[in-house]
Amino acid sequence: MVAAILLSALAMSVIVGVRYLVASGGFALATRIRQPGLYRGLERQMGREVRWSLLSAFIYGVPAGIVAWGWQARGWTRIYSDINDYPLWYLPLSVLLYLLAHDCWFYWTHRWMHQPRLFRIAHAVHHASRPPTAWAAMSFHPWEALTGAIVIPGLVFLIPIHVGALAVVLTVMTIMGVSNHMGWEMFPRWMVRGPMGAWLITASHHQRHHEYYACNYGLYFRFWDRLCGTDKGLGEFVKARA
Ligand SMILES: [Zn+2]
Ligand SMILES: [Zn+2]
Repeated sequence: MVAAILLSALAMSVIVGVRYLVASGGFALATRIRQPGLYRGLERQMGREVRWSLLSAFIYGVPAGIVAWGWQARGWTRIYSDINDYPLWYLPLSVLLYLLAHDCWFYWTHRWMHQPRLFRIAHAVHHASRPPTAWAAMSFHPWEALTGAIVIPGLVFLIPIHVGALAVVLTVMTIMGVSNHMGWEMFPRWMVRGPMGAWLITASHHQRHHEYYACNYGLYFRFWDRLCGTDKGLGEFVKARA
């Protein structure tokens, strides 16, 4: 049993690591094409981002792997695979619930980690990327990685979700984690600067967090930032020259 759990944790760490390399590698390539020269001179920083991210991937994999084992072997969790177990309208709702819960957790733990003492211990690694690149998506100190690693494995015990909807949540998490750090805005201006962007977080919003630190703490939604007065609007990107 212990061997099976360890194997599951290890397999999940490898999966998260590969997912990181594919996603960040993909967006780094897109950056090369769309914004040539944007990461020029950041090679050493990107090396550090990759190393911290791979360590984080390992940390993320452990709770996820243990829970995945328990789901398969012991019937833990509220993950369901028969689509008829819940009404169809619950599928998009469950995705939204997960994103809202993750966003809430992220906002408050992130804000907490900006207290000077904790910042030095847990969060300075993430902010050492100046400016962050597509490789910084999981560039966290192990303490910070731990706070992120337990969210989804915890939520699957609380909120029922179809395995496909869970895949959607993880995909959104991966894409936004990478694109919010890649140094340019991939969404159209009408969306980012329009009514939708008033509530959704994209790279322009998170860029300002990396610029000013004590604002724009959210992950997916601007709700908490706006409610708590920490939303300082959207940042602008300096256009890279070829
Ligand atoms: Zn960040
Ligand atoms: Zn921060």
